[in-house]
Amino acid sequence: MSGTPGAAGDLLTGPARTGPDESDWAAAVAAVRRLPADARVLLICHVNPDGDALGSMLGFGLGLRRLGVRHLQATFPGPPEVPEPFRWLPGLDLLVPSTKAYPDPDLVVCFDAASESRLGELVDRLDTAGDALVLDHHASNTRFGRVHLVDPAAAATSVVVDELLTRLDVPLDAEIAQCLYVALTTDTGSFRFEATTPAVHQFAARLLATGIRPGDISRQVFDTRPFGAVRLFGEVLGRARLEPAAAAGNGLVWTYATQDDLARHDQRPYVLEALIDSVRCTAEADVACVLKQVGPAEWAVSMRSKGAVDVSAVAVALGGGGHRFAAGFTGAGSAEDVVRSIRAELDGALIAR
Ligand code: 5GP
Ligand code: MN
Repeated sequence: MSGTPGAAGDLLTGPARTGPDESDWAAAVAAVRRLPADARVLLICHVNPDGDALGSMLGFGLGLRRLGVRHLQATFPGPPEVPEPFRWLPGLDLLVPSTKAYPDPDLVVCFDAASESRLGELVDRLDTAGDALVLDHHASNTRFGRVHLVDPAAAATSVVVDELLTRLDVPLDAEIAQCLYVALTTDTGSFRFEATTPAVHQFAARLLATGIRPGDISRQVFDTRPFGAVRLFGEVLGRARLEPAAAAGNGLVWTYATQDDLARHDQRPYVLEALIDSVRCTAEADVACVLKQVGPAEWAVSMRSKGAVDVSAVAVALGGGGHRFAAGFTGAGSAEDVVRSIRAELDGALIAR
């Protein structure tokens, strides 16, 4: 995702769960190692995939290919459109539209999806697949597979992917590294967020040592957008509202983008993913929200917190999920209806400090 200021620890949904234990890792390694030579493996990442979802999935896919897995597909629910900033990633040839995905793979592996709902129309593969492996780092993960490698302390799902590839004896090469680097920089906000531990920098160092070019990657992923998107951002930011009294006085800033806004500027929905970063910098608000219209009365909501409010608790209460400092959900009604529901949850939310 763009802008995940933190990872571990949920105030309202209980203490951060610990990561995978040795038996989880062993079960995951065994699930891959016991695949027959002609096995069909399906990789799935969450709807509206971001850098961590796509990078983790394709990086792992390239690793499986190195291991000799021949019948390998990667996919995600919804329209089979890869956001422009990721259209250069190695491993894109593994992608198939969800309609073409193996109906009953021998193994399904899910990436960066906190719950089944994030798998959309592909959710049935959890039942039809011979085995189901879940790789994730959301504390709110609902453990919907058979083997779970869920580490809420991991800065990105790619950290979990890296560990599994290491345990599978897959050497890191530049192509895999490009994918995992995109994932890591996406979810750490380019090493700015709290989850940026020494281990994250050590992981980044190993990725860079393969010879990948961080300047080129960052420019393509974070610093390039069409002029129409620049104009669209101007309009949407111009209508942002600040509510200093919301969230028990910690402040809320929010804005919305409609499907008509996108159409007027001839832009695709994924350009809106970067908007939250221009809203959450508001000094006067702890909580920032961007509502992105996805249907006549349906909004994909991105929420960020600077630390006073656990937005994952708000998102979970409204049917979504995420991390303490970055979370989201899908809301129904008008934009004002959705903001009203957020305000109500924020007022009830536990204030950490
Ligand atoms: P973003 O705002 O960047 O789309 O997402 C922020 C975080 O919240 C990510 O960790 C993302 O996976 C999670 N998230 C966003 N929308 C939803 C949703 O509708 N359901 C769930 N379970 N998680 C979401
Ligand atoms: Mn992630």
